[in-house]
Amino acid sequence: MSLIEKTASELLALQKSGQLQATEIAEAFLNAYAAREPQLQSFMLAPDASVVRQQAEAIDAKRKKGQPLGRLAGIPVAIKDVLCTRGIRTTCSSKMLEHFVPPYDAHVIERLKAEDAILFGKTNMDEFAMGSSTENSAYKMSRNPWDTERIPGGSSGGSASCVAGGQAPLSLGSDTGGSIRQPAALCGLVGMKPTYGRVSRYGLIAFASSLDQVGPLAHDVRDCALLLETIAGHDPRDSTSVNDPVPPYTQTLDQPIKNLTIGVPKEFFGQGLDSEVESAIRQAFREYEKLGAKIIDVSLPHSPYALAAYYIVAPAEASSNLARYDGMHYGHRTATPGDLIATYSKSRAEGFGKEVQRRIILGTYVLSSGYKDAYYLKALKVRRLVKKDFDDAFQHCDVIMGPTTPTAAFKIGEKANDPLALYLSDVYTVSCNLAGIPGLSIPCGFTRSGLPIGLQLLGAPFTEEKLFRIARMYEAVTDWHTRRPKL
Ligand code: GLN
Repeated sequence: MSLIEKTASELLALQKSGQLQATEIAEAFLNAYAAREPQLQSFMLAPDASVVRQQAEAIDAKRKKGQPLGRLAGIPVAIKDVLCTRGIRTTCSSKMLEHFVPPYDAHVIERLKAEDAILFGKTNMDEFAMGSSTENSAYKMSRNPWDTERIPGGSSGGSASCVAGGQAPLSLGSDTGGSIRQPAALCGLVGMKPTYGRVSRYGLIAFASSLDQVGPLAHDVRDCALLLETIAGHDPRDSTSVNDPVPPYTQTLDQPIKNLTIGVPKEFFGQGLDSEVESAIRQAFREYEKLGAKIIDVSLPHSPYALAAYYIVAPAEASSNLARYDGMHYGHRTATPGDLIATYSKSRAEGFGKEVQRRIILGTYVLSSGYKDAYYLKALKVRRLVKKDFDDAFQHCDVIMGPTTPTAAFKIGEKANDPLALYLSDVYTVSCNLAGIPGLSIPCGFTRSGLPIGLQLLGAPFTEEKLFRIARMYEAVTDWHTRRPKL
């Protein structure tokens, strides 16, 4: 197996035992970038080869002297371009932020640096994280490494494409309604949206602040746990960040959960679910049964309304968050300004793409006087009921399982002119964000044409440790996570 196919944990172990140097890892992934990026288009901003090499050399030198090293020493981590990186352009794949260079690092970037990870480029995404296919990037179309005619999912499509394609062993994404789990599923990776409050949002450019979380994408459960362990934890600069210790996820990973009860909601197996995806999910349930798990039916009666509520709450918050990009304080300013209002509106019309404009219009509409009660406030009530459904269900089971996405990766352009069809690909992922609970997607098979399928695990708040252990039970008896696309 070549270096670029290995997991971060394997690369760390090889360095520890003296069989591998950080500089060799850096060269391997820089070469993979050079060879594969023209085809995959995963990155908004290329990794800076000279900085990557310098960092790797410094790590090797420290190791030689026996100095202590961080837990991600020498591991390249690709960063979704929604996270602020000091001195490095951060665009959200939008023309609005084409020239934005943040003067500070996001909390999660500080955490990575403190653990000696190597920042490895900024990944392409749907503009301002709005989308499910990465087709809404203002710059380029990222490809699914399993079939480059297909979308890698979104909005963290570049982050999924680069890890699945062997251009980085780990990446960070953000998930507001599925943007980590959905691309992870479509690219054959493990991806987690942590509990709301588990990871600081400081330096994460806001889409919908009550739903946004940062999280990891990786080849397997161990790597996913390792990266979450690194970025999670309290940060006083995000008032919603929770001040609870982060469990050592990687240490308990191999301890199976005894008397595991899995809840299966019938609402996740209705109309629109592809039959190949359904049969892979049901096969995974049988694996769990062989491992001694009990499968029970649970009901999430309000989940049919979750998608509608999400597409009110998320645009409402987005319309408020994106008001700051006015061409005066922030963002693109038109070259042909007029009076104040004309300058605002021209700058925003030029800087924002179609989907972002649609969300702003939707969001301001549902918040406007006369409509707020009918739409926004009603959606908040539905949100509350969605949360209650989960609370009730978790009285009877340890974990809820179902598909991450209704279908495998679709063709580029297939849904581009039909926003509603695209919104439907979030049908199984948005409830998790509305309820603030953790969600994990793991590979559980392939379609006949060789496209990855993801199994979604949902847990009660702050049960990430348990979710990782449950996921690992399945991973230990299957080999989906070891497959790599031929490129
Ligand atoms: N696809 C969803 C949307 O467009 C979710 C995006 C996300 O999680 N950032 O809103």
